[in-house]
Amino acid sequence: MSRIAYVNGRYIPHHQASVHIEDRGYQFADGVYEVMAVMDGEPIDEDLHLNRLERSLSELRIESAMARASLRVVLREIIRRNRIRDGILYLQMTRGVARRDHAFPTPRQTALVITARPATLPPPDALRAGIHVITLPDLRWKRCDIKAIALLPNVLAKQQAREAGAYEAWFVDASGHVTEGSAANAWIVTREGILVTRPVSSKILGGITRLGVLKAAAEEGIPVEERPFHLDEAKTAAEAFLTSTTAFLLPVLKIDDKVIGGGKPGKVTERLFQLYLAEIKTNKKRKRIPHEEKAALSTGNPV
Ligand code: PMP
Repeated sequence: MSRIAYVNGRYIPHHQASVHIEDRGYQFADGVYEVMAVMDGEPIDEDLHLNRLERSLSELRIESAMARASLRVVLREIIRRNRIRDGILYLQMTRGVARRDHAFPTPRQTALVITARPATLPPPDALRAGIHVITLPDLRWKRCDIKAIALLPNVLAKQQAREAGAYEAWFVDASGHVTEGSAANAWIVTREGILVTRPVSSKILGGITRLGVLKAAAEEGIPVEERPFHLDEAKTAAEAFLTSTTAFLLPVLKIDDKVIGGGKPGKVTERLFQLYLAEIKTNKKRKRIPHEEKAALSTGNPV
């Protein structure tokens, strides 16, 4: 069966799908994106992802290519046409095609591309067994809360991780505190059993998985501190893990050369993974977004 992509109003065979060379996404990385997991043919946490998409668009003053209700229809159509049961949806909006000029074009004509591919979700056992991360200086811009398609530092970091035999790179800020991974949020569990992750700010992307894990921890009565943590603290933590839409929640067994938790996935990490999985399965039926989650997503102001 051939893959189908949605490109600016048309469903096109994936191998033929293309955009114009003067699309501003191609020329300037002038656009935003979202990645959603699909399980049992349903997008997971769709409303939370669309909230974040709308926020990213509005921060960059890009008009949405279509209303949310229509977007939901197209997302389902892409799932259906690609016969995705478990997989990944990718959605990108750019400021469209225009003669190359840094300033915004008029009239506005936002371009929209949506693709889908099958994937093993949750990730396969080899990954679930735990991964290694390296650390690198955070060279990114000052609005990491926007899910912009400009990902050059993330690309370079991920490649460096791969070449070092690691799964991910964690960025470290000028004061030695971990910000997040190149494509995931970073977490530790202290020796006192406290779950620690960086609070949302312009220095990190407000992960949707992060919200789900925070919710699961609260329901389970696991103490949480949303605060920056130093790399030294991470290296002496009882447990560490990362979260993202595609990775779910993966135990981190080594940070640089330091083995964490005796090199085995921790109990809190495993518990949170099970709770998160149970939660997204029930959330598929959820229609309304809890108030506090909306509020959490809107706090990405520059600090
Ligand atoms: N931070 C960065 C830089 C990311 O690219 C991602 C993945 N999109 C995340 C965090 C995790 O976000 P989410 O849980 O919404 O996938």
